Amino acid sequence: MTTLRLYNTATRQKEDFAPIDPANVRMYVCGPTVYDRAHLGNARPVIVFDVLFRLLRHVYGPDHVTYVRNFTDVDDKINARAAESGRPIGDITAETSQWFLGDMAAVGALEPNQMPRATEYIAQMVTMIEELIAKGHAYAAEGHVLFSVESYAEYGALSGRSVDDMIAGARVEVAPYKRNPMDFVLWKPSSSDLPGWDSPWGRGRPGWHIECSAMARDLLGERFDIHGGGIDLTFPHHENEIAQSRCAGHGFANVWMHNEMLQVEGKKMSKSLGNFFTVRDLLDQGVPGEVIRFVMLSTHYRKPMDWTEKKREEAERTLRKWRGLVAGIEPATSPAPQVIAALSDDLNVPGAMAALHQMSTKGDMADLLASANILGLLRPEHGGWVERRHVDSGGLQTGMNEQVAKDIDVLLDRRDDAKKQKRFEEADRIRDGLAQAGIIVKDAKDGSQWSLGQSVDLSKLDALK
Ligand code: AMP
Ligand code: ZN
Repeated sequence: MTTLRLYNTATRQKEDFAPIDPANVRMYVCGPTVYDRAHLGNARPVIVFDVLFRLLRHVYGPDHVTYVRNFTDVDDKINARAAESGRPIGDITAETSQWFLGDMAAVGALEPNQMPRATEYIAQMVTMIEELIAKGHAYAAEGHVLFSVESYAEYGALSGRSVDDMIAGARVEVAPYKRNPMDFVLWKPSSSDLPGWDSPWGRGRPGWHIECSAMARDLLGERFDIHGGGIDLTFPHHENEIAQSRCAGHGFANVWMHNEMLQVEGKKMSKSLGNFFTVRDLLDQGVPGEVIRFVMLSTHYRKPMDWTEKKREEAERTLRKWRGLVAGIEPATSPAPQVIAALSDDLNVPGAMAALHQMSTKGDMADLLASANILGLLRPEHGGWVERRHVDSGGLQTGMNEQVAKDIDVLLDRRDDAKKQKRFEEADRIRDGLAQAGIIVKDAKDGSQWSLGQSVDLSKLDALK
């Protein structure tokens, strides 16, 4: 059996991966806080851990992997959104969760086996908090329960910080009920206008971190194999998860994996820089989900990745070409060994992609298809976007060859791009040129389509090339 090597943030090295139980390999990934559309950065961990999920299923068998990803549906950002919009919290979280699943399906992510919602695990969280108090790792004060960081000697080990450094560097909330400024909230009181549950400490709601410890224990057991998320979660979220679970008396995750962050055209994605966009924004602009996925996969997950317009264009061109090459081909029975070898080396997806390029130039189409499939690419269900744009196949019967049809598609792509970039003169020039050649362009919501008019003179297209 293939042995995977995975980089473990906790030990800062690549290690051979030895599952606790190869018949049930268990992975937990922190999911979204549901109050708004997922931005493009949020799609990165989803796609990274989707590839790992597919690889684990390949190596250990599809029925021998359990992947859990939560929805954080109790959070002060959600409460604030409800207050400002006047909408019930449950409506916001239900709608946003569905948006998330739809957008992630569009980028080709499989659904995890379990997608627990925090609000369904309040009882398990309360139990764990009671255990922590009983063991002297947490204390109740003024309706709050706080985790005492000084009670856990290894606090800070994952992110490599000492408690003293943290106090010096962090903007921690100093509160009269905290014994140490780094102590973090397990439970806090809720006023009557906020979501709350009865508890031994009065009506209140959980702090952010306890949900993952409680849900992972409930669904995956006291010790499991892999815990993932974005690198920004290492501290404080994952540090706090470890502290809670270890102090509750059990092991928690063996391997910690973190994806680096996504940037846009070399800059941090942020609303103030005007380069902030959601996955849905891109899909609505006509960028196929498969193209988003391809661009994401071209950078190793432990390197910062830069989303650029140039990469998007290249990805679309490559995928169009590959989809043309594998049309009508049956995939090989399994992915090529060099692809599995690359993926097994700490998810070297760029290495796997390089192997795909080689297969495409060498003409190994069955291997290309099977190997792309394990990366979630070239799957039949995601190929709709590449379909011919012409709405009428009559032209092909009247002697129009495939190449000319493709050339027209490319011209329409160029026109769509020109329109998007507000280069309207260029867009009109292409439309007029096509009209002179007898090609009728129809603008539709998801991009334009073409058909052949009454009298066609394809030689006129040369002027547009
Ligand atoms: P959040 O809903 O903000 O808790 O984020 C959900 C997931 O997206 C977490 O795993 C984050 O680490 C990850 N994430 C947020 N922003 C980015 C980004 N710019 N690049 C990559 N991952 C991100
Ligand atoms: Zn978490």
